[in-house]
Amino acid sequence: MLKNQRSVDAYKESVDLMPGGVNSPVRAFKSVGMDPIYMDHGKGSTIYDIDGNEYIDYVLSWGPLILGHADQRVVSKLKEVAEKGTSFGAPTLLENELAEHVINRVPSIEMVRMVNSGTEATMSALRLARGYTGKNKILKFEGNYHGHGDSLLIKAGSGVATLGLPDSPGVPESVAQHTITVPYNDLESVRYAFEQFGDDIAAVIVEPVSGNMGVVPPSTEFLPSLREITKEYQSLLIFDEVMTGFRVGYHCAQGHFDVTPDLTCLGKVIGGGLPVGAYGGKREIMERIAPVGDIYQAGTLSGNPLAMTAGLETLKAMEPSEYEGINKKVDRLVEGYQQASEKYNIPIQINRACSMVGIFFADEPVINYETAAKSDTEKFASYYRSMAEEGVFLPPSQFEGLFLSTSHTDEDIDSTITAVEKAFAKLNQ
Ligand code: PLP
Repeated sequence: MLKNQRSVDAYKESVDLMPGGVNSPVRAFKSVGMDPIYMDHGKGSTIYDIDGNEYIDYVLSWGPLILGHADQRVVSKLKEVAEKGTSFGAPTLLENELAEHVINRVPSIEMVRMVNSGTEATMSALRLARGYTGKNKILKFEGNYHGHGDSLLIKAGSGVATLGLPDSPGVPESVAQHTITVPYNDLESVRYAFEQFGDDIAAVIVEPVSGNMGVVPPSTEFLPSLREITKEYQSLLIFDEVMTGFRVGYHCAQGHFDVTPDLTCLGKVIGGGLPVGAYGGKREIMERIAPVGDIYQAGTLSGNPLAMTAGLETLKAMEPSEYEGINKKVDRLVEGYQQASEKYNIPIQINRACSMVGIFFADEPVINYETAAKSDTEKFASYYRSMAEEGVFLPPSQFEGLFLSTSHTDEDIDSTITAVEKAFAKLNQ
């Protein structure tokens, strides 16, 4: 058993202070039947909790820390910049530097606007798409998560391509009605939705690799067909690359799959562990944003010098060879899971896009939300607890992917595979 008295005490205190004791719901560990583990510090691929336990970290702050924790290049630059002041409410050169870097690397981005989170990026991109096209509706995919903006916190209505229903109290039905939700990887439903509502669809927003129902890659024809259909109907294609951006390859998922959207949303890795989001795209569209254009969007701390610094240092360090290095580690990890699954007769489905990995306790291939939802969440919870006890920190939900960083070592992978074998052996008892 993990020693966890300090975490238990901290949780008791925090439930009185914050809803559920946390500042973001999944940190409450509810779906794996555990209390939260309170972290103290991290270095490289390892994090340390307040009870003194250490773990190989595959959460990496839910994706941003592609260099691992407290990378020396990032930390020392942050110290230097902090000494000069943390925010000015006026432009700094760091904003130009990061913008240039992003424009050079992301095929669809000719101009970019920095914001403070992925949620802000997607909300702003939707406003821009609606303002630019003069249309109202948005098409999204079941199981894709785009942050908690009202238009995007929508579940599918019943039937194919019906208008959406609020996914949370507080989202007005009148807002939900403008969001159409169809299954991921289902082009027939997309075409049907466009036949029904095509004149009024401002944009299709999609995770080019879905990472919020576990990891679900696109079928070969999915993204190119979305590109064609949106062009045909003069609707914009928005790639939500908050998770995939600078993770699924040097040129993001759009470079990897060679499909160029009109707008791209970024977050996570672009901030290197500090709060940054961004949206960008074709110059002609981006120039509709204030102050050049008439579509309003602003932020007191947008382009913050510390946040720009962490992002810039992280992106500069992520040369193409680094992606190859991570991928080799992922190859070994995935092979280890496969072998453990066969050895202990635990059926799993492994989905992967570069260093995003989804392990589903499921019998059939996972290609969309419906197939992901068939996973055995009880088995997942018990595997999760075993892995934590063996010193492996995973995202505490069957429906989240795990991430690797440049800091993960071959020894980390070996220890993780040993932990997987133990966990699967227990499941088989
Ligand atoms: N879009 C995607 C694909 C995400 O995975 C997330 C967060 O996990 C978001 C948007 C929202 O980003 P944030 O949590 O920074 O608001």
